[in-house]
Amino acid sequence: MPREHMFYETVVIGSGFGGSVSFCRLAQKWGDKVLLLERGKRYPKGAFARSPKQMANNFWSVEGDEVNRPKHIRQKNTLGLFDVRLFKKMDSVFSAGLGGGSLIYANVFLEPPEEVFQQGWPAKLTKKTLQPYYTIARQVLGARPVPQNGDPRRKIVRTELFQEFAKHEQRESKLADICVFFGNDYSYNNGKKPLDIGDQEPNRYGALQTSCTYCAECDVGCNTHSKNTLDLNYLFVGENKHGGKILTECLAEKIVPLDAKGNDDSDADGSNGYRIEYRAFSDNTSIIESCFTRRVVVSAGTFNSNELLLRCRDYYKTLPKLSQQLGKWFSGNGDFLSFVPMGERQADPNYGPVITQYTDYNLFANFSKSQGFVFEDASYPVFLAWLIEGVFPVDLPRKLLRLTKQFWGWLVNLLTSGSWANSLGHTVHEMLAGDLSSKSAVLLCMGLDKGDGTLTLNSKNRIDLDWPQDTSMPVYQAILDAGKRFQTFVKGKWFIPLPTWNMPVRHNVTVHPLGGCILADTPEQGVVSADKTNRGEAFGYKGLYVVDGSILPSAVGANPIATITATAEWIAEGITGIKPDAGLGIVNNKP
Ligand SMILES: Cc1cc2nc3c(=O)[nH]c(=O)nc-3n(C[C@H](O)[C@H](O)[C@H](O)COP(=O)(O)OP(=O)(O)OC[C@H]3O[C@@H](n4cnc5c(N)ncnc54)[C@H](O)[C@@H]3O)c2cc1C
Ligand code: SF4
Repeated sequence: MPREHMFYETVVIGSGFGGSVSFCRLAQKWGDKVLLLERGKRYPKGAFARSPKQMANNFWSVEGDEVNRPKHIRQKNTLGLFDVRLFKKMDSVFSAGLGGGSLIYANVFLEPPEEVFQQGWPAKLTKKTLQPYYTIARQVLGARPVPQNGDPRRKIVRTELFQEFAKHEQRESKLADICVFFGNDYSYNNGKKPLDIGDQEPNRYGALQTSCTYCAECDVGCNTHSKNTLDLNYLFVGENKHGGKILTECLAEKIVPLDAKGNDDSDADGSNGYRIEYRAFSDNTSIIESCFTRRVVVSAGTFNSNELLLRCRDYYKTLPKLSQQLGKWFSGNGDFLSFVPMGERQADPNYGPVITQYTDYNLFANFSKSQGFVFEDASYPVFLAWLIEGVFPVDLPRKLLRLTKQFWGWLVNLLTSGSWANSLGHTVHEMLAGDLSSKSAVLLCMGLDKGDGTLTLNSKNRIDLDWPQDTSMPVYQAILDAGKRFQTFVKGKWFIPLPTWNMPVRHNVTVHPLGGCILADTPEQGVVSADKTNRGEAFGYKGLYVVDGSILPSAVGANPIATITATAEWIAEGITGIKPDAGLGIVNNKP
C-alpha cells in the first residue's frame, strides 16, 4: 500500500491550457492534494532564450527519447522550450515549459461557430453547452483586442493592411481578442484606457505583469511577462493561492492502475487509484520516481497525451482497456503559413503582438465544412525559424545570427536542391534585408481540414502520424487562392506557401495539433466520455481523464485554445462539482 502522505487526490500531467485549468480548479477543491508534473522548465521574467548560444539549446530532447525529430536535435540532451517533430506528411512545433503552448503562442482567443460542433462532435456537446465556459475562459485569460487610441506607438501598420485587403475581398475582418496584458482596467475590467506601454502592475490574480511593449516576440517567449500566459493566471492561483504542488522537469512515463492493496494491477479499472512513474531531471541526469493518486488528468498536449496512452495500452500494457479509437481523428486544424515578400505596401511584420486581426472565409458567415478558414496577419514567424533550425543540422549559433536574413534561402535550397531554388532562394534571402522586410507580409491561415489523421506507435514505440493530406486539399487550395489574391493586392513579387509545401516534400506544418483521444458518447466512437456525469473520463477506467487539445473531435477552424480552455473548464466542473468563476475562487471580480 502506498504511504498515505504520497496519495494525491489528483495528479495532472502537463501544464498547457487543459492541464492548467485542471490544476487550478482541482486545487481549489483539494489544495495540496493536487500535484502537477510538467516536463519543461519554469520561465520567470527575462528567462526566455535570446542569445544564439541559448537558442541553440532551446529544444526539447532528452536521452532515450527516440521520437521523430531531427537527428542533430536528438543528439542533444536539452530541456528547452521548443519540441520539433517530423512526420511523413506533416511536421509540428509545440512547447515544453510551465504554461505549455501559452509560452510561445500568438495569444489569439477565437470561439468557433456553432456549425463546427456539428462535424463529428457528440450530439449533446454543442456550442451552447460550452458557451458559459468560453465566457469564463475569456475573462481569466484577459482576451481583448489591441487598444485603439491616438497613441502612434499603438498603431500597427499590418493590421490596417489586412483590413484593407478584407474590404477589397468583400470579407469581414475583425480585430482579434488576444490574451495580452494592457493593464488591469483595459484587459480585465472592459475599460477603454490601457496602462502605458512598459508600465507594470500586479494582474487581477496578483502576478506582476508589464503592459505590452509591442516587441513582436510573442512566439519565442515574452520576457516582460506581457502575455497572459498560464503561469500568470490559472497556474499562479492554483499554486500560490490554493496550495497545489507543481514539479517541473518531471516527465510522466507510465500510468498503472492499482489493486485494493495499492499494488500495480493492469487488470484494475482505476477504482483504487493509480501509480504514475516519472523521470525527474536534474544536472543532465534523471531518476525514476513514482507518485500515487486517486485520479489522473492527462494533459500532455495532443502528441504526448496520445503517445503516453498508446504506450500504456500497447507497450507497457498497463491500460489495456483504453478504447481502440485511441489515436484516431487527428487534425492539424488546417494550418497553413505563407509569405508575400517585396510588396508595394508597408506591412511592418516585426511590430506589435504577433496576430492582431482575422478575416473570415466561410468559417463564420456562409459556413463551408470543407473550405471554411480564417486569414490572420502574423509577425515574423520565429517558430518557423525554429523549425528550420530543427530540420537542418548546421552550426546553429552562427546561423541564428543571420537568421532573419537567410532562413528562406536555406530552406528552399536545402529542400529542393533544384534549379529554380537558387534564384528564388536568393530573392527571398534579400526580402528580409533593410526596407524590404517592412514590405513583406506573413499570412497565417487555419481552417477545417478533414481531421482524418491517425496517430500510432512507430517501431521504437514512439508517436507516429499518418496524415492523408489529399482529403484536406479543398481547404488548403482555398487558402492558397486567397494568398495569391493577397499577393496581387499588395503587388508582391512572390507568393510563397509553407516552406515545406513545395514539391517534392509537400509537408504541412501544424502548430495546432488536435484529436486522437476524442470526446464521444461511446467507446466505439471515441476515447473519453462526453456524458455530463463523467465528462472527459476515459472509457474503461475510473478517475482517468484526458483534458487538452487531443479530446477535440474535429478541426475547429479558429485558433483552438479558446475551445480547449472552455472544454477543460467544463470537465473540471464535472470533477469538482464547483461552478467556475473568473476570479478563480479568490477574486471577487466582475466580468
Ligand atoms: C507558435 C505557436 C503559436 C500559436 N498561437 C496560437 C494562438 O494564437 N491561439 C491559439 O488558440 N492557439 C495557438 N497555438 C496553439 C496552442 O499553443 C495549442 O493549441 C495549445 O497550447 C494546446 O494546449 P494543450 O492543453 O493541448 O497542451 P500544450 O499547451 O501543448 O501543453 C502540454 C504540456 O504538457 C507537457 N508535457 C508533455 N508531455 C509530458 C509528460 N509526459 N510529462 C509531463 N509533462 C508533459 C508539455 O511540456 C507542455 O507544457 C500556437 C502554437 C504555437 C506553437
Ligand atoms: S509584443 Fe512583445 S511585449 Fe507584447 S506580448 Fe508580444 S512578446 Fe510580449
